[in-house]
Amino acid sequence: MTAQQTIRRQVSCAGIGLHSGQKVMLTLKPAAADTGIRFRRTDLGREIPARLDQVATCSYATVLGHDGATVETVEHLLAALVASGIDNVIIELSQREVPIMDGSSAPFLFLLQEAGRKTLTAPRRVLKVLRPVQVTSGDKRMAVYPSDHFKISYTISFAHPLLKHQTRTERITEATFTDHLAAARTFGFLKEVEWMRQQGLALGGSLDNAIVIGDTGVLNALRFDDEFVRHKMLDAVGDLALLGYPLIGHVVAHRAGHQLHTDLGRALLADPEAFAVVEVDAVGQMTPQVAGVPAYTPVP
Ligand SMILES: [Zn+2]
Repeated sequence: MTAQQTIRRQVSCAGIGLHSGQKVMLTLKPAAADTGIRFRRTDLGREIPARLDQVATCSYATVLGHDGATVETVEHLLAALVASGIDNVIIELSQREVPIMDGSSAPFLFLLQEAGRKTLTAPRRVLKVLRPVQVTSGDKRMAVYPSDHFKISYTISFAHPLLKHQTRTERITEATFTDHLAAARTFGFLKEVEWMRQQGLALGGSLDNAIVIGDTGVLNALRFDDEFVRHKMLDAVGDLALLGYPLIGHVVAHRAGHQLHTDLGRALLADPEAFAVVEVDAVGQMTPQVAGVPAYTPVP
């Protein structure tokens, strides 16, 4: 695919926010070339572009926006959009949080199937990694290396017998995302649920939208033996969508999460020699396109 895409028709769904517990209506609308992915809070009349320079917090979910106008838990929807090759779309929300649906990206892929696709006349631009960039935080680390494809190698390791070590590598295409990652659900630890609710988090969480992990096992059936690491890869695809362009590089993550995903994106954009924004030409080769580089201001 060499040209930018949007959706063919408007689609909507309703759900609840994982953290807010509030009912929310989500509508996806077609958008012109070079619009990018933009959120619109219909209750506030505010627009928030899906870009790293809009990240407000990212402890339990990735939150964009400022001045009271935020959009929360954007990552599973963004993963579905970027994996489906949608470059331009308006995402309307009636509340502050994207609906959690079943805790995965699969319901959003279904919604995008309903929406169809429209090819636009403008060429697609991608962000190609030219030299390695690494970020670390304690024993967590994440890096991105030059590659001809978007690839992720992810390792998780938690102090829990079920999640001691899971590792997986995928070349991220629409097919591999759909077949291997999209259905992997978010997860949480039963012993953290009470504390999270006291903090106003996970108010909409249930066994219908998250894998809940007890001391000896999971409370609901797994979709994949390694569903946890697959979900972390899905999160990374969604968080890295905030670069503003599809990424061409090999991402390697060890015990990472939303904070490190977005830290890596910012570190990459802060080093102009580490990447180039290039147009994808008719034979799928890439030509430098310096004019397309967005004016990002790195956030400290
Ligand atoms: Zn997630």
